[in-house]
Formats: sequence, structure tokens, C-alpha cells
Amino acid sequence: MGSGPNGLAAAIVLAQAGLRVEVLEAEPTPGGAVRTMELTLPGFLHDFGSAVYPLGAGSPFFSSIPLPDHGLDWIHSPAPLAHPLEDGTAVVLERNLEDARLSLGQDGNAWSLLVQPFVENWREFAPEILRPLSGMPKHPLLMARFGMHALLSAKTIARRFHSGRTRALFAGLAAHSFLSLDEPLSGAFGVIFGISAHAVGWPIPRGGAQSLTTALCRYLATLDGKVTTSSRVESLAALSGNDAILCDLTPRQLLAIGEQRFSEGYRRRLKEFRYGCGVFKVDYALSEPIPWKASECLRAATVHVGGNFEEVAASEKAVRNGQHADRPFVLLAQPSLFDPSRAPAGKHTAWAYCHVPNGSNVNMLDRLENQIERFAPGFRECVMARRVFSPAELESMDANLVGGDIGGGVVDLRQFLFRPTWQHYGTSAKDVYICSSSTPPGGGVHGMCGYHAAMRALKALDIR
Ligand SMILES: Cc1cc2nc3c(=O)[nH]c(=O)nc-3n(C[C@H](O)[C@H](O)[C@H](O)COP(=O)(O)OP(=O)(O)OC[C@H]3O[C@@H](n4cnc5c(N)ncnc54)[C@H](O)[C@@H]3O)c2cc1C
Repeated sequence: MGSGPNGLAAAIVLAQAGLRVEVLEAEPTPGGAVRTMELTLPGFLHDFGSAVYPLGAGSPFFSSIPLPDHGLDWIHSPAPLAHPLEDGTAVVLERNLEDARLSLGQDGNAWSLLVQPFVENWREFAPEILRPLSGMPKHPLLMARFGMHALLSAKTIARRFHSGRTRALFAGLAAHSFLSLDEPLSGAFGVIFGISAHAVGWPIPRGGAQSLTTALCRYLATLDGKVTTSSRVESLAALSGNDAILCDLTPRQLLAIGEQRFSEGYRRRLKEFRYGCGVFKVDYALSEPIPWKASECLRAATVHVGGNFEEVAASEKAVRNGQHADRPFVLLAQPSLFDPSRAPAGKHTAWAYCHVPNGSNVNMLDRLENQIERFAPGFRECVMARRVFSPAELESMDANLVGGDIGGGVVDLRQFLFRPTWQHYGTSAKDVYICSSSTPPGGGVHGMCGYHAAMRALKALDIR
């Protein structure tokens, strides 16, 4: 149920094992938060949800299946990430670690020390971080080393850097956690996103997010799996008679369609699950590339807009405290610079969002654009059309985006360990599994929640 990347990954694992699989998708097109649409003007292709894929390119499961044979082509911008600063310059994270070490100047060695062991061992590292934290790691030394950073806050890790430029860069990386930057685990997000930039890059799919979904669907079709769209499941009872039901849903939705199937204890635990903050998103059709003061920003598909460490931290803390930041941290992607298929010749697209409290209905448009204007004066004059998504509008196009939460639930310490419950993928009904980003390893497009859930189902069916 649900054709997001986790639903499709689960379906593929089951089909690979020889099971007959059908994916029921509520929306008219498959993909969930991995879809591309003409959201502004004809010929401008926008990613409705996710846009940049470090964990997609670095996913052990996606790497194990022949997605390039089914049309997936990753495009790497010359640098994965740029972060403009108040003085009109930008700090750029180079893909090559040695180049990054040199460009980060006095902090280059500290950066290398932080990420190098994991960059060099990504193949061993990725499966360890993209699974539930249970049992012995297969690579105990590597993971012991990572464990030294894992619980630290971004604020603590940033103290290793002398330059405000590197601290700003790290703040942007850590803000992907949706946590306040003084909370435990926020530092681990920053480190993982930094590692992935060097190990696998932060690529975009040629043609947009939909190309990844299409490749997954096509591969599933070769295994005789089927995706049926415009088919919202209203009740688990409608699916009785199947050996296993894998739900690419978050806990609230699972309860809504199947409360009576679950034990009282399991229902209680699902009800206790907490969602994270939401996002306020804008897609732009542009007449020209964004006029960044720092032209280096044009080298990167992703730009973190928010100023120095303290500003980014204040923005994220405000949101965690249920407030709206005056100067929000904005994550921005400019895919058409590197993929001309996204817009008519000479024109461009941009994708930007900021964090807001869950379910917020505050219009953040001015604040979000003021932030871009700070670092790219004249940006508004380039806008030919824009499409604004409040958290509720996002949720109306993908029911998993509860209150605008794009990560399937907050990832604080408790929900990192018990996601969504201690049973992870299993539920109290023995034929029902949950496989969305509300299970380990959580949000992001990697398909690993679906992979692990399906492996668990196969084990229960005695197939693996
Ligand atoms: C604006 C935005 C920006 C993001 N940026 C990035 C990024 O750049 N990089 C990244 O890695 N991640 C990003 N993410 C996060 C990423 O997209 C999600 O973590 C990921 O898509 C989760 O996958 P999923 O399969 O668990 O759920 P989803 O992708 O949300 O898919 C769930 C599917 O289930 C369907 N469904 C729900 N209820 C039912 C029902 N009752 N019956 C049938 N079908 C149902 C939905 O329609 C949907 O298709 C972003 C997300 C958003 C929204």
C-alpha cells in the first residue's frame, strides 16, 4: 500500500523472492514524495517533494538493482552544495574530499578527520546507518568510531571548526535533521550528509524525481509486480486474503484504516508516535538563473540559504519550539542549471522550502523570499510564476506528509530507537507490516525502510 520509494522497494524485494505483488497507490501517479509535475507554467518540470538524492545514490538497495537500465541517470553538479554568506562570498563543499580539505583552509584537516574514515568505507558504512539500531554491527570498529559523534549536537561538533564559514556549512548540513542544533543526534545528521557529499555526491535524476520512481516501477514490472494508481485503501479489511500487507503509511494513517486489527497496546504505542515539524515549500519558474552575489553558488544543485551558524541554529530552534523564524533557514535546489530538460530553453526552475511548526498555516512566502534576496538581490524580478505549498497542501497530495512533516515523524533519541515502536516493521497483526519512513532508518529517499520491512515479512513467511 503506497508507491513511495519505500513502498516500491518493499514490493521489489517481495517480487524478487517470487511473490505475486500489487501496489495500491492513492494518487493518480506513483511516487509519493518522489514525483515531478508541471506545477507552474507549461514546460517547467518541478519536483513536488524530494529533489536531491545523496541517500538515493548511496542506498545499498537501490545500488543492488539495475535502475540505470530502466532510465535512471544521476546528474552531479560540479559541487554538491553551496552556502552563501553575508559578506557576498559562499562556502562551497567540494565533492572530492582532498579538494574540500584544501578549500576549507584552516578547518580542512578537522573536516577530513571527521568524515574521511566513513567516506573511504561508504559501502560498509551505509548499510550500518540505514538499518535499525539492533544487534551487533558488522563493522564494529567503524561504527564505534561513528558512535563517538552520533549522539553529539551540531553545536558541539561545530566547535571543532575555527572558521565561521565552516561552522555555517555544518549548520546547514545538520539542519536536515529537523532538530534544534543543540539537540543530541543533530550532529550525526550533519556528519552523515557531509560524508555522503564526498562518498556518493548529492545528485539529481535527469528529468526529475519521477525518473527514479519510473525506474523502480519499470524494474518491478520485470518481476511481474503491478502498480495500481488512484486506488486509495480505506480499510485493511479490504485486503484480507493476502499473505502479507506492507503499508507505506505513517502511524496515524495505519490506525485510521485498521485500528480494529491491532491490539490495544500496539494501538496505544502508535497513538503516542510524534510527528516532526512541517515544511512550507515554493516552486519557481524563473526567467534566468538565480542572481547569487556569490557566483560560486551556480556550481551547486543545492544551496543552503540562512547565513551563519547562529542564524541557522536560531531558525531551527524557533521551529522546534513551535514558532516561525523571522529569518528561516531555506533549502534551495536549482536543478535546471544542470539538467536542461527541466525548463524551456534559457529558462530555469527553483525549489525551496523552510521548516515551520507541524500543521502551520502561516504564510512564509515573504520571509522565505527575503532570505533568498539577501544573498541573491533581484531574485524576485526573475520569477515568472510560483507555486506555494503550505503543509496542508503538501499533505493533500501525499497523505504521508502529516502536517507537512516530510520525514515520517520526528527523529529524536526515542523515535530513533523505537520507530514507530520497538517492533519497527512488525505490528500486532501478524500479516501487517509498516514500511514507510516512520520505520528505521527514517526519512529520505533510500528505500531501506521498505527493504528491511519486506525482508522481515519474507522471514515470517519462511521464505528467507
Ligand atoms: C518537499 C519535500 C522535500 C524533500 N526533499 C528531499 C530530498 O531532497 N532528498 C531526500 O532524500 N528526501 C527528501 N524528502 C523526503 C522524502 O521524499 C521522503 O522521506 C520519502 O519520500 C519517504 O518515502 P515513503 O515511501 O516512506 O513515503 P512517500 O514518498 O510519502 O509515499 C507514500 C505513498 O503512500 C501513498 N498512500 C498514502 N496513503 C495511502 C492509502 N491509504 N492508500 C494507498 N496509498 C496511500 C501516498 O499517496 C504516497 O504515494 C522530501 C520530502 C518532501 C515532501
